[in-house]
Amino acid sequence: MTYLDYNATAPVRPEVRQAMLDAMRAPGNASSIHHYGRSARKLLEDVRAKLAKLVDANPADIVFTASATEANHLALQGLPRGTRVLASAVEHLSVLKQPIDPQIIPVDGNGVVDLGALEALLAGSDQPTVVSVMIANNEIGTIQPLAEVVTLAKRYGALVHSDAVQAVGRLPLSFAELGLDLMSLGFHKCGGPVGVGALVMRPGLTLNPYLYGGGHERQLRAGTHNIPAIAGLGALMDRLLSEGEVERQQQGVLQQRLERGLQAFGAAVTIIAAKAPRLPNTCCVGIANVAAEQQLIKLDMAGVAVSSGSACSSGKVGASRVLQAMNIAPALLQSTIRLSWGWATTAADIDALLQAYQQLLPKVGDKVGDKAAASASAQTDTRQIPLAI
Ligand code: PLP
Repeated sequence: MTYLDYNATAPVRPEVRQAMLDAMRAPGNASSIHHYGRSARKLLEDVRAKLAKLVDANPADIVFTASATEANHLALQGLPRGTRVLASAVEHLSVLKQPIDPQIIPVDGNGVVDLGALEALLAGSDQPTVVSVMIANNEIGTIQPLAEVVTLAKRYGALVHSDAVQAVGRLPLSFAELGLDLMSLGFHKCGGPVGVGALVMRPGLTLNPYLYGGGHERQLRAGTHNIPAIAGLGALMDRLLSEGEVERQQQGVLQQRLERGLQAFGAAVTIIAAKAPRLPNTCCVGIANVAAEQQLIKLDMAGVAVSSGSACSSGKVGASRVLQAMNIAPALLQSTIRLSWGWATTAADIDALLQAYQQLLPKVGDKVGDKAAASASAQTDTRQIPLAI
């Protein structure tokens, strides 16, 4: 089976799994005073330091949570009551679904946030404001102009939060250089564990807790630490700190191979947000008037697991709100799929997708899939990625 759905979740890396299993051998509540508690505390703080190194932040400014969803809620609900949230139209629902609805910043046809509209919203009120714009989108991969967003927000005295979940392991990340106030992280899209997320805070910024109970995480996030998941995160950090750049380049090589192959199919195929800077591991692609549901099923039958570019609930695929916000042509709105890859993906996986894709293009001719795969191999670096599931 070829797995191309990393933006939903990635296969867990072997070293992450091993670190989690090792951590599960001993009891360990990092708040306990005894030997086991102290070794859990040491592990927790070591991993916090590694994470801080990866994202260029202070360890003391990192709050562990149980998920990225929770980090987004802590960021936006932890600010003083009455803070207005301005969020881009393509944010994850864990940003958009807040007790008070955010005001929406529109995006252009490539999913890039409209800076003029942001400025008008900032200028339109002197209420305390936080701007929430993700680093990169989970459906289309578009990378947002965060430096410009931060400059504008600061001009109007607003704070900036960014959801960096899809950027981890795919882009170099410097919290300090980005000039952000808050940044949410998750780790299971790049081979890390579920069950742990993090919020990075600007030094000196104060938040109100979102969960109350024990005094964990400097009173900011109550709840016993998930030490096995945090141990797995430590193994992920070791890998990304040593091989992150190599992995990012490999993702980019696969993207070239895939997109050249798709382009060889001709006008039947549209790559969404093709003109925007995008993550090296994501491609949202549409075949006009061929329902995403049908594409998913056919690819699944051909042994390729992908996701639709659309929200999937109760097994039914609806129109994607991200694509709607981008004003994508109606013929493509319910006809796109999302391909996303990562640490275990090989060139052979990309070729398997291109071959399977041929079946979705009945009118284009039998040889087109072979031609697409051949074209991809001819034009791209054909080195096999050494990591395999
Ligand atoms: N933000 C983005 C951009 C995401 O893609 C996701 C996961 O799909 C989340 C936040 C939430 O992550 P989790 O479900 O792990 O809490």
